[in-house]
Amino acid sequence: MPRLTQADLANLNHNFEERTPQELIQWAAVTFDQRVAALSAMQQSGNVIAHMISQLGLKIPILFVDTGVMFQETLDTRDRLARDYNLEIRTLQPAKTMEEQTAEHGVLYLSPDGQEKCCHMRKVEPLQRIAGQYSGIVSSLRRSDGGRRAHNPILTIDVEMNALRINPLANFSDEQMTEYIETNRVITNPLHAQGYATIGCNRCTTPVMPGEPKRAGRWRHLGPWSMYCGINPTDMNDPTHNYIELTQEEIDRIMGIENDFMI
Ligand code: SF4
Repeated sequence: MPRLTQADLANLNHNFEERTPQELIQWAAVTFDQRVAALSAMQQSGNVIAHMISQLGLKIPILFVDTGVMFQETLDTRDRLARDYNLEIRTLQPAKTMEEQTAEHGVLYLSPDGQEKCCHMRKVEPLQRIAGQYSGIVSSLRRSDGGRRAHNPILTIDVEMNALRINPLANFSDEQMTEYIETNRVITNPLHAQGYATIGCNRCTTPVMPGEPKRAGRWRHLGPWSMYCGINPTDMNDPTHNYIELTQEEIDRIMGIENDFMI
């Protein structure tokens, strides 16, 4: 099967820096047709992507991983987006309930090793189970979120999902985000207004204090504020290979060969 590496994407990534998020979402829709989905945790940036998809009239489904221990506000946000923006939201779930997992393994999220295991079972595996269904995944990572996201390219290979990740908001600043949300009255998770800068499971997420890094509220009980769940390529410590395998036609479309759709 033809391979695509991160290095192959260097020129495209350079050119795409000048494109708007809406142009990049359109590009993903045209390039991958039925084989593209968006991934959202029902946080601010994911909701902005959802709003853009809706405004553009695109039929891109949104993937949401419900770990079984999400805040009710997050589930309500998902339902509002589906209803008000007329979106197809596909909820993915872990194989076991949190109760079943705890009976088998104990309370995992209280130690760094356990957190990795728990996030893998509850967040990564549900997504891995649908690997192969989509060749393009629109994500909402932003460089201004800092940490491992600070240098995230617009296009990234995702070896776990064997898909191309498209980050239309990679260079969207905090100011642009606020302006877009206010101008368009984007539906947002009410937890943001309660001090939650980023939002994950209710077991492992707290609000942040003024002056704290945005991710300080994630796994606060485990110490350093640099932990990630492993659901994004930027979260991985040690990728074992550095390519994805797509059809030649998909690669040609990505690279702008044999089609004239260049934004
Ligand atoms: S965020 Fe916490 S509860 Fe949620 S999957 Fe990860 S370790 Fe488990």
